Amino acid sequence: MKVLVLGAGQLARMMSLASTHLGIDVLAYDVGSKQVINPVTFEVKPTTLEQAVEQSYAITAEFEHIPEDVLSICQQSGKFFPGAESIAIGGDRSKEKALLDNAKVPCAPYALITEKQAFIDAIDELGLPLVIKTCQAGYDGKGQWRLKTSDEAEQIWSEMNRFLDAGTDTAPHSIIAEKMIPFDREVSIIGVRTKDGQCKVYPLTENQHTNGVLTLSIAGKEKAAIQTQAESAFEKLAAELNYVGVLAIEFFDVGGQLLVNEIAPRVHNSGHWTQQGAHTSQFENHMRAITGLPIGSTELVRPTAMVNVLGQPNIPQSVLTVPDCTSHWYGKDPKPGRKMGHINVSAGSLHQLGEKLAELADILPEEDYPGVASTSHTLILN
Ligand code: ATP
Ligand code: MG
Repeated sequence: MKVLVLGAGQLARMMSLASTHLGIDVLAYDVGSKQVINPVTFEVKPTTLEQAVEQSYAITAEFEHIPEDVLSICQQSGKFFPGAESIAIGGDRSKEKALLDNAKVPCAPYALITEKQAFIDAIDELGLPLVIKTCQAGYDGKGQWRLKTSDEAEQIWSEMNRFLDAGTDTAPHSIIAEKMIPFDREVSIIGVRTKDGQCKVYPLTENQHTNGVLTLSIAGKEKAAIQTQAESAFEKLAAELNYVGVLAIEFFDVGGQLLVNEIAPRVHNSGHWTQQGAHTSQFENHMRAITGLPIGSTELVRPTAMVNVLGQPNIPQSVLTVPDCTSHWYGKDPKPGRKMGHINVSAGSLHQLGEKLAELADILPEEDYPGVASTSHTLILN
């Protein structure tokens, strides 16, 4: 069985690695170079997008910013899951907010901005500080501004205006201003939905971001009440989208109440821990769902942490001496801040996971791997 993934980065690669044993062959379409490649070996195939679509049993995507014409070719084939609409919603914050409002799932108070008066009104109505985000084209904290005091408004507006002006009639640009949420922590839920509407949800993951980029995730800490809230949001949104495959939802936890930050219609960095902390990884479950195979258990096998490797070409080999710890490499050329790979580490209890993170913190410098040491201390107290 062949599956085509739109996008040829690490998520396509991990989908391929996780489904080869099911007899699924994955090809990836690199929307930048317009080439069809093997996402593990990077070998370029003498195949056009149209031919790859024709030859595939199912088609999916590893990111949201995909040109309309590519989405449309895939949608017309009838094999594209979760489908063009879900991908388009995930790639446009204004559509995403409308989905949350329709499904009655709470998010941060926001205002849509397409001209200056709406910006002035938003400052008035929502109050400062604000997080301002381009609706199209943002990822990993890019395309965002923090407006803390009103004297910064003019400068930020000139940059916002440049983005708005770059839109066209067929692809208009817009911006969302959100109230800055004083959250206690960030969490995410990853779940999978089949073609006949069956849902399975992984345990909630606690996530730490540094400069807008995920640095560390922990799974296995959550209490039932908060898990139930996240599952309910997942089920509402997945049903509203008639979703097939893995869907990720990021939340702010504010005093035990979850507010959605954003959704990702795909496998997600905060679900990488499932490669060794769950019976069936997010990658395998996504491939199973989109090809119509029965989905596997999403239960936690053991508490697991994931540490992102950002910008580093390698890690000390001694990381692999920490029991139940492994590394996953994406085969990319190093650039500052680029997601190069990740480390997963599991343990029999949260306390032991803390001890293993403490061992990792002794090996990995704090400036490149922020939060590992402090998280280890918190978990050891468990
Ligand atoms: P990615 O897609 O990689 O998750 P992104 O660029 O789409 O990132 P967001 O998830 O919207 O960006 O924001 C990045 C981070 O900025 C969040 O994880 C959170 O730490 C912070 N942030 C975003 N919005 C708010 C908000 N309204 N209040 C407080 N912090 C926020
Ligand atoms: Mg995010």
